[in-house]
Amino acid sequence: MPPPKAILAIDQGTTSSRAILFSNAGDILSIKQKELTLFYPHKGWVEQDANDIWHDTKWAVEEILKEDVADNIAAIGITNQRETTIIWDKKTGKPVYNAIVWQDRRTADYCAELKEQGLEKKITAKTGLLLDPYFSATKIKWILDNVEGVRKRAEAGELLFGTIDCFLLWNLTGGKTHATDATNASRTMIYNIKDGAWDKELLDLFDIPECLLPCVENNCHDFGVADIGNQQIPITGMAGDQQAATVGQACFDKGMVKSTYGTGCFALMNIGQEFKISQNKLLTTIAYQLDGKVTYAMEGSIFVAGAAIQWLRDNLEFFKDAAESEALAISVEDNNDVYFVPAFTGLGAPYWNPNAKAAITGLSRESTKAHITRAALEAQAFQTHDLISAFQNDTGFEIQNLRIDGGLSNNAFVCQFLADILNCVVEVPKITETTALGAAYLAGLHIGLFKDLDDISSGWKMAKTYTPNMLDEKRQAYLAKWSQEIDRVLLHNE
Ligand code: ADP
Repeated sequence: MPPPKAILAIDQGTTSSRAILFSNAGDILSIKQKELTLFYPHKGWVEQDANDIWHDTKWAVEEILKEDVADNIAAIGITNQRETTIIWDKKTGKPVYNAIVWQDRRTADYCAELKEQGLEKKITAKTGLLLDPYFSATKIKWILDNVEGVRKRAEAGELLFGTIDCFLLWNLTGGKTHATDATNASRTMIYNIKDGAWDKELLDLFDIPECLLPCVENNCHDFGVADIGNQQIPITGMAGDQQAATVGQACFDKGMVKSTYGTGCFALMNIGQEFKISQNKLLTTIAYQLDGKVTYAMEGSIFVAGAAIQWLRDNLEFFKDAAESEALAISVEDNNDVYFVPAFTGLGAPYWNPNAKAAITGLSRESTKAHITRAALEAQAFQTHDLISAFQNDTGFEIQNLRIDGGLSNNAFVCQFLADILNCVVEVPKITETTALGAAYLAGLHIGLFKDLDDISSGWKMAKTYTPNMLDEKRQAYLAKWSQEIDRVLLHNE
């Protein structure tokens, strides 16, 4: 009998480039990864070497292909850091400039100008996004306007633009395919997510020639054949990282939410087939597009999640390992009235205040590092609560359960406190590499390893659930106090 088919997921993230081999049952067979360097050439600028992104990814895939377990790979799925922008030469593949990373703020003044001209509303209505340097459009414009000779070459049709998925696909197929998928396109701020097409009016506004742009495909598609490590493997799935995680958490029903707790936290709610704009400064984005049918999501990000625990570890030296925070938190009965608003880089959704500063409040002579650590962990649940309330206000959906992943999902105190504060079941999956798993699911779906989304859902494996166990009165008291602390931080930074 031939060995069961495996799927190779490429997960090109901000901090590393990885290849993960999954069995057709969704179990991990092998992982290879390489750390990626970020460059900060000026204040607010964040870049990466696009050649490194490709070479490191290629290396990770080739290392996996050398292994015995890799002798029956049926397909490749790609997932990636979103919005990061590359422009390269169509003939040579040589990037004309470094990759401008999603975190880069160099176009902040330009975005502010457009906002002053009252253009944000129109942009949101077409793209679901807020007018911000985060998205690709103004990064593309910056390269065209600032790198010598590039605009001319772009207009002559010599160059190509792509987000990381597209750049990797182009390289993996030896320059044969210049395509992206609908989820990655939905983060560029030039793609109309209602019409499902590049938006001519926005291309004019940002002065971007259409000949630079890739084709936009479904998330499951015959993207081309990767010629790598003496093998030819079809690439059949592709999605941006947070959308891939939504698929990896099998959030296929309206109202289902996944939340990833790494350095920051990204939450997405599946809102179904109807496009809807948020009244609470959340983004609307494409969750996935299958057979031409779009499913939308609302998305909110909390800038500081695990980073608060890193800060306690590195700056205050409370512990050596982030995992120790759990024992410290449960060593005290409660927070002893200490609250921690981790606004180290302003506050993200749903408050949106770029100038907010972090605060630790309620300190007394009895306060210990255990109370402060507990407050930092509790803040994860309070921030999530505010985000989920915004989702609910916008959509009217009551959430039944929350599927979580990322580093903090290993912390049982956080998981239980989340369940208590949200008053819903918190589910932690068996495979916490949900981003890569999502890319593998998409690739497998296209080649029939999975019949449909229901088939993926039924094979999705849970490791642990946490059920709410807090009196409503107590929950309300916590939330009232938290809300008071948030107001204080916001007031202080007006
Ligand atoms: P990223 O993908 O953003 O690098 P990860 O998902 O690897 O993030 O999670 C790392 C973050 O989670 C770090 O900020 C770390 O402080 C935090 N973290 C990891 N494990 C734990 C834990 N057991 N308890 C609390 N925080 C944790």
